[in-house]
Amino acid sequence: FKRISTSSKSRDEIEQLGETFNEMIERLEENYHKQEQFVSNASHELKTPLTVIESYASLLQRRGASRPEIIEESVEAIHSEAVRMRELTQQLLLLARQSEKENLHISEVDLEAVAADAVENYRGSYHREIELSGKPAIVQTDPDKVKQLLYILLDNARKYSSDVIDVKIDTTETESVIAVIDRGIGIPEKDLERVFERFYRVDESRTRTSGGYGLGLSLAKDITEALGARITIESTYGQGTAVRLIFPVTSE
Ligand code: ADP
Repeated sequence: FKRISTSSKSRDEIEQLGETFNEMIERLEENYHKQEQFVSNASHELKTPLTVIESYASLLQRRGASRPEIIEESVEAIHSEAVRMRELTQQLLLLARQSEKENLHISEVDLEAVAADAVENYRGSYHREIELSGKPAIVQTDPDKVKQLLYILLDNARKYSSDVIDVKIDTTETESVIAVIDRGIGIPEKDLERVFERFYRVDESRTRTSGGYGLGLSLAKDITEALGARITIESTYGQGTAVRLIFPVTSE
């Protein structure tokens, strides 16, 4: 503050500087708090599978030799918890890389072609019926990131519905939209505005079994924003969910 010469500044200006400074500190504190919360959530999520792995390993050590039936059960539990831990660490890594605003590779892209590609890959892995409709939609974006986004949204649609999933491309003069629509369990209205928060899950019991950590949509939001696009979610509890990726159309 030494460099601010009070004589050349009016009281108002100094007050304003003070306010700006306070706002900056508040924002820093908020970010710091979020970061702390994130680390604490991540550690908590990693602790659960670790505890299971530890106790089955010690059970194996103590009883494995004398009771062979324990071996199969323990190895299975250790394996499935290890898989969960790998999934979580992968998602955490993706989040960390995303916040570094890793180099994007922007080019002129046809969203319909990118979606067709992603849908075909996804169908191959999960054998789910996915219907793609729409016309070519040219925007400036990173096609790999768009695919990554679609995998996140298709994964959710697959986990929380059992019917056909629709992927629709729509274009207006100013925007191109990819919508991923399912007819699944939907999201209660009170939870809807929080689903983009890190580690937010609508219902622990329904997601614990399907393996979600509440990170998918928050990652999707980060990626969409990095691309200069928007993401919206609409849902009716018990009927289904529509998530839209909205890309601005830049006219030459
Ligand atoms: P997760 O990895 O747990 O699915 P997300 O961040 O992708 O985490 O989603 C947050 C929560 O929102 C999920 O736990 C789930 O309860 C809910 N959710 C997301 N997508 C859908 C969907 N298509 N249908 C119903 N619920 C959904």
